[in-house]
Amino acid sequence: MKRFHCDILVVGAGPAGSSAATAAAKKGMSVLVADRSARIGIPVRCAEYIPAQLLGEVNLGSEYVAQRIRGMRTWLPDGSHVETVAPGFTIHRDLFDQTLAREAERAGAEILLSTTVLYRDNQEVVVRKKDRELLKISPRIIIGADGPHSKVGKWISSVNRHLIPSVQARVLLKNPLEFTHVYFHKDIYGGYGWLFPKGNEANVGLGRKKKNGNNVSLKKLLEQFIGRLVEEGKIFPKILKWFGGWIPAEPVRRVVKGNILLVGDAAGHTHPITGAGIAAALISGRKAGEWAVKAIEAKDLALLSKYEKDWRDSYGEAIDRAYHRRNLLEQHWCQLDTIIKTCWVAFREYYVGTEE
Ligand SMILES: Cc1cc2nc3c(=O)[nH]c(=O)nc-3n(C[C@H](O)[C@H](O)[C@H](O)COP(=O)(O)OP(=O)(O)OC[C@H]3O[C@@H](n4cnc5c(N)ncnc54)[C@H](O)[C@@H]3O)c2cc1C
Repeated sequence: MKRFHCDILVVGAGPAGSSAATAAAKKGMSVLVADRSARIGIPVRCAEYIPAQLLGEVNLGSEYVAQRIRGMRTWLPDGSHVETVAPGFTIHRDLFDQTLAREAERAGAEILLSTTVLYRDNQEVVVRKKDRELLKISPRIIIGADGPHSKVGKWISSVNRHLIPSVQARVLLKNPLEFTHVYFHKDIYGGYGWLFPKGNEANVGLGRKKKNGNNVSLKKLLEQFIGRLVEEGKIFPKILKWFGGWIPAEPVRRVVKGNILLVGDAAGHTHPITGAGIAAALISGRKAGEWAVKAIEAKDLALLSKYEKDWRDSYGEAIDRAYHRRNLLEQHWCQLDTIIKTCWVAFREYYVGTEE
């Protein structure tokens, strides 16, 4: 079996992995990134909205921006709606991820595609290449950026336990829209439906928790939702593509142990109410990359625990609030009309009060 050494092994070349790899490679570390997919960013599992504030974290690349978004329209179960200012963009997520990976390569990281991380053998990580050849990699530090079902997370017993299944379709819009649309309905338990415009097309999807007695499949529920949007004259009935994915809705937890750090969805850093995770993936990735460099330079792995404090200072409170609001929302789902104000980010009440 061939053996490789590197300073930092990043598992996963999504936004979190590429961001970690760029931060570490820029400081001269030898960085290997392994991703099981043959092409970065494919398949897309995303509604593709990024908030404008993210531009402090990434350069706005015209090749991946699909359209500008002015705000969000939230539709309530009684048919009324509220509008929130939420400037941002919908993007071509595959191109976005590919741009980030190119940046990591330009900084000096090496990306191995079609390379699946399998298991750890003492301090070595065994990976399988497309041709089924096994390689052993000996890194000084491992950054787990391998998404919601993270294998690296299992190695340090820090795994996502509250994953929400979601399904999405690409459809054609009847008229262009400047707002993202979010729909709450009693049948979409613990989640919501969305319509995110992308030029002449839109991503229409929903995420829903399982509950005893709700036997309608996710796909069926999405078909019903699409039917409603067709009736409202927003979209054409034809479906161009189906997608699916898992969205972590996790409490704040420890994501560092020994020489391993988790970032992005692997760390459960998706917002437990909205499901947005690109921003946290980029920020946690950069921070983990920077702390890994500091730990290697100081020859002191204990420094990695500072990453834990760093990401919590940045957005730990937002995740904590959202996690508790999600619990409240689920407990009071039968009073969705009233509880929604305390539990959805479009309302002032969401930001008021303590969590318990
Ligand atoms: C339907 C849906 C809609 C969403 N919409 C939005 C949105 O509009 N805006 C937003 O901000 N967020 C959205 N999210 C969340 C967002 O997509 C994630 O938070 C984001 O992708 C997290 O990035 P990541 O780099 O942590 O993980 P990922 O993007 O999941 O990347 C993980 C990478 O790890 C690789 N990998 C996994 N296992 C292994 C292994 N064993 N070996 C090697 N490689 C491996 C995968 O191939 C993948 O490339 C959505 C999620 C879903 C499911």
